[in-house]
Amino acid sequence: MSESESRSKTSSDADAILTAGYRHFVIVISGPSGAGKSSFVHELLRLHPDLVYSVSATSRPRREHEVEGADYFFLERDDFRARIERGEFAEWAEVHGELYGTLRAQIDQALAARRNVLLDIDVQGGRAVRRIYADGVFLFILPPSLARLEERLRGRGTDSEERIRLRLENARREIALAHEYDYAVVNDEWDAAARKVDAILTAETCRASRLIRPRAGA
Ligand code: ADP
Ligand code: 5GP
Repeated sequence: MSESESRSKTSSDADAILTAGYRHFVIVISGPSGAGKSSFVHELLRLHPDLVYSVSATSRPRREHEVEGADYFFLERDDFRARIERGEFAEWAEVHGELYGTLRAQIDQALAARRNVLLDIDVQGGRAVRRIYADGVFLFILPPSLARLEERLRGRGTDSEERIRLRLENARREIALAHEYDYAVVNDEWDAAARKVDAILTAETCRASRLIRPRAGA
C-alpha cells in the first residue's frame, strides 16, 4: 500500500469511528448529607454546560431557596406512591424518613438528546442505577471528618436540629458503603476537590469504550 493509500485508509477508519457515535452515560453523585454533593452538581453544570441534571421527585418539604422543577419536583406522598405504582421511577428510596425518586423520563430524555445526565441520589439509589446503567460513573463525596460534616450541616442553616441529628446518624451508614463506588473524593479544600471531580468527569467522557464500534465495512 502506498503512503497516500495508507493515509486515506487511516482517515476513513477514523471517520467511521467518529460518525458511528458515542454512548452517553449517567454520572451518579452520592455521599452523606452536607458532604457537598449539590455544590459539586452546580460546579459540574457550570463547567460542563452539556450536562443535564436529573431532577428528582421528593415528598420532603421545599427549602426556602429551592425551586419547584429545578431542584426537585415536590410531591404529596399519595401522588408519589401513585407514580411508584405507575412505574414512573427508575429508582426510588426512603431517605431520612422522606421519599425520593429518579423519574425514568429524566434519564431517558437526556440520553435520547445525546447528553450525559447527572444524578444526586443516595447509596440505595446508586446501587439501583448501577444495575440499569452499568457503564455509568459512580462518585462518592466524603467529608473531611464527621465533625466537619456537622459544622457544614449547621452552617447551611436549612435543617432543624432533629433533621440534622437524623442526617448525621445516616452519614456513618452511607460512608461505610463508599467502597462500592468508582471514585471517592474527600471534600476538604473546595478548589482542590472541585478540580478532582472535574478531572474525573473529563477523563470519563474520553473513555474509548464509549465509542460505538463501527459496522464492518463502514
Ligand atoms: P449536600 O448536597 O451533600 O447535602 P451541600 O453542597 O449543600 O451538601 O454542602 C453543605 C454545606 O457545606 C453548604 O453550606 C456548602 O456551601 C458547604 N460546603 C461545601 N463544600 C465545602 C468545602 N469544601 N468547604 C467548606 N464548606 C463547604
Ligand atoms: P436533600 O433532602 O438533602 O436534598 O437530600 C437527601 C438525600 O436524598 C441525599 O442523599 C440525596 O442524594 C438523596 N436523594 C435526592 N434525590 C434522590 C433520588 O431521586 N433518589 C434517591 N435514592 N435518593 C435521592
